[in-house]
Amino acid sequence: MANEEKPVNFIAEIIEADIRSGKHGGRVLTRFPPEPNGYLHIGHAKSIVLNFGLAQRYHGKTNLRFDDTNPTTEETAYVESIKNDIKWLGFEWAEELYTSDYFETLYEFATKLIRNGLAYVDDSTAAEIAASKGTPTEPGKPTPFRDRSVEENLSLFAEMREGKYPDGAKVLRAKIDLANPNMHLRDPLLYRIKHAHHHRTGDSWCIYPMYDFAHGQSDAIEEITHSVCTLEFVPHRPLYNWLIEQLEIYPSKQYEFARLNLNYTVMSKRKLLQLVNNNYVTGWDDPRMPTISGLRRRGYTATSIRNFCERIGVAKRENVIDVGLLEFCIREDLNKTAWRRMAVLDPVKLVITNYPEGKTEHLSGENNPEVEGGEGERPIPFSRELWIEREDFMEEAPKKFFRLAPGLMVRLKHAYVVQCTDFVKDADGRVTEIRCTYIPESKSGEDTSGLKVKGTIHWVSVPHAKTVTVRLYDRLFNAENPAADEDFTASINPDSLQVIEKAYVEPDLLHAEPGKGYQFIRKGYFTLDTGSTPDNPVFNRTVTLRDTWAKEAQKQ
Ligand code: ATP
Ligand code: MG
Repeated sequence: MANEEKPVNFIAEIIEADIRSGKHGGRVLTRFPPEPNGYLHIGHAKSIVLNFGLAQRYHGKTNLRFDDTNPTTEETAYVESIKNDIKWLGFEWAEELYTSDYFETLYEFATKLIRNGLAYVDDSTAAEIAASKGTPTEPGKPTPFRDRSVEENLSLFAEMREGKYPDGAKVLRAKIDLANPNMHLRDPLLYRIKHAHHHRTGDSWCIYPMYDFAHGQSDAIEEITHSVCTLEFVPHRPLYNWLIEQLEIYPSKQYEFARLNLNYTVMSKRKLLQLVNNNYVTGWDDPRMPTISGLRRRGYTATSIRNFCERIGVAKRENVIDVGLLEFCIREDLNKTAWRRMAVLDPVKLVITNYPEGKTEHLSGENNPEVEGGEGERPIPFSRELWIEREDFMEEAPKKFFRLAPGLMVRLKHAYVVQCTDFVKDADGRVTEIRCTYIPESKSGEDTSGLKVKGTIHWVSVPHAKTVTVRLYDRLFNAENPAADEDFTASINPDSLQVIEKAYVEPDLLHAEPGKGYQFIRKGYFTLDTGSTPDNPVFNRTVTLRDTWAKEAQKQ
């Protein structure tokens, strides 16, 4: 038990107090209640880490409950992706449950309210109901159906269930208080008619409970102790409690925290679906999406996402988190875990004129210099002709250019010091070849040359290089808060994806493992794309080595 430690957040404080007072018999049972109408995003991760984290901390459990009360938007494929994402994040649920499994019980709950004179069938249209509800400063007015008898309500509600009425013809409403300052208590809707096929119950039902008549009731059925949700549900809490009291069911309690808002992205599933359907991205798991599956494909680790969620904490007030913090968390993790490799993304040829033709040396490099022992080494073939980055050469170098230019010396990573002698250009004035000589005594690890060079560059041996596709991803939106615009797609970043069809990598990268991070030295962190094949390996850039956006911001 975490008794001696300070509670990690205000919900943990409440739980600790409840455990001390013996409320819920000292039990902790939380739930994560996604609606299967889309893929999980980083906002959901915050809720997952909170709900599962609290339960773990206090030796409790967490249910996974699919909140599937809206047949028209829900699909089994979403259920599978949600389960997969939660497992990948590293959490295990106690039970996999579905609100739709409670439809019969919920129906009975509704009839209990009717029998107690606390619910009625209303034939008014949605517009009429809205108009009769009043405003926060003016009380509502009863519709002509508010005083129907219990018998009439029971039989009309039964007929609703039997399918006697079309969509929208009738609703079931709680009979609470039309003058209550809380609009949610002004006879809220409990059931609506919807003749639609449900992904689990098929055509058995044509009436479906509203969120307010499903969520708290499901909590009570499962005997959830702490039902944690986001702040927009604060005004729903009195109704949550009222229904539980009137139905005399398990007294689950609702607590609210500030949802995660992240800049430079959108997070509502409706908007994400729009990005997918209108082909702004290639799918829910496009590496630019803020979805768990997108982040995973981009190369984010579960550890980095969990760390991010813990670092941002749990607040009672809305705020916006800088996406730079998420990027910081993945850099921090990959710096410790990613294996270092060399890849040349914009190649130009370097010829070492005093190195024997046809000779190959097998140099070696530590996989991970951040870890003691380096996690082993891999062989790196070296030869007379190498690919280097075009930007590592200048015909005329300014003073502080510590890379290659005629006369300048540089160390080739894991290899030798070379000195540039001259270069070749084509008819268009483009440099096609750089020439240099190498210093045999300067070999890394056994350097007796006494030379001190300032710059080190990466390279790949031309005859040994493997060709791969590299995708450089950037933020999907240029605006800090795309959702604030009338059309959120207006601020889509046109340069969010740059594809390099032919990049050269050291041969060992052909053994790259899916799901593993690689640091392409000096270039960023990369991972193998899920659509990669042995014939056409594709690497996604997870994140740059440094925060390039912060630099941009400084310039402005
Ligand atoms: P969206 O608005 O993105 O569609 P939602 O709230 O409708 O999200 P649900 O599937 O109903 O999605 O959410 C499941 C759980 O995840 C809920 O408890 C919800 O409060 C929580 N959740 C959703 N978005 C966020 C967020 N941005 N930050 C924290 N928790 C969130
Ligand atoms: Mg929802």
